[in-house]
Amino acid sequence: MFCFYHTFLSPVSGRLILFPLRYKIFTRKMAVTRQLFQLQELDTEIEQKELALAQKQSQLGNRQVLDTAQKQLDAEHKRLDELRHQHREAEAEVTDLLTKIADIEGQLYGGKITSPKELTSLQHELSIMKARSDELEDTTLEIIDRVEETESIVAAATDDLKKLEEDWQHQQQQLSDDIKKLQGNLEDLRKKRQELTSQIDTETVNLYEKIRKQKKQAVAKVEQGICRACRISLSASVLQRARSGQPTQCGTCGRILYIS
Ligand SMILES: [Zn+2]
Repeated sequence: MFCFYHTFLSPVSGRLILFPLRYKIFTRKMAVTRQLFQLQELDTEIEQKELALAQKQSQLGNRQVLDTAQKQLDAEHKRLDELRHQHREAEAEVTDLLTKIADIEGQLYGGKITSPKELTSLQHELSIMKARSDELEDTTLEIIDRVEETESIVAAATDDLKKLEEDWQHQQQQLSDDIKKLQGNLEDLRKKRQELTSQIDTETVNLYEKIRKQKKQAVAKVEQGICRACRISLSASVLQRARSGQPTQCGTCGRILYIS
């Protein structure tokens, strides 16, 4: 029978080796499904990196954490201002009351007022004012406590915000670095993809793209006569075709079968 042979010189024995051309064709076709499998792996890696890139890009410049912390600090500042205002008002009222009390006491013990009725009335007024003064002093002390407590909260929140800002700046720098690295990776991967697809015929690449669009995974490994993607046994004829290296689709799920 007439048969074409490829010849090459064995680097080990130095002898001329012959092998049939049919074998050469077989290995070339096997390579197509292997290339498609590699293409799928590349596409999966590209997708993962694109997703990671998009996530990192969405975090870049996102000041939400800082804005929330700043809002909380602003609210505490506002509370502190209100408390200080209340403190000043209570103190002013106490000063005013003490002046009035001194005035009434002056009248009571000055000896100018002698009418018992008037004196009783002044005594009554004095006792009301003293009670109010005591009450105000308690209130003032409570306000002072709350002012001090809020000052501590503001100081801690200010420190926290400063630390958060520093962490955020650091994280942003890290994000920028990661983004640059991912963009570089993606550029390399896309170049590899370009090189790989240029080695596969357009029709097969189009078939791969079409299945990938529909099913995400276009190439399925075959193990023990079963399509790994849909887990259905393959017919003998499909298996034979797949083994020959021709792009063969699974009869059930339609994916291109790859026998490693
Ligand atoms: Zn299948």
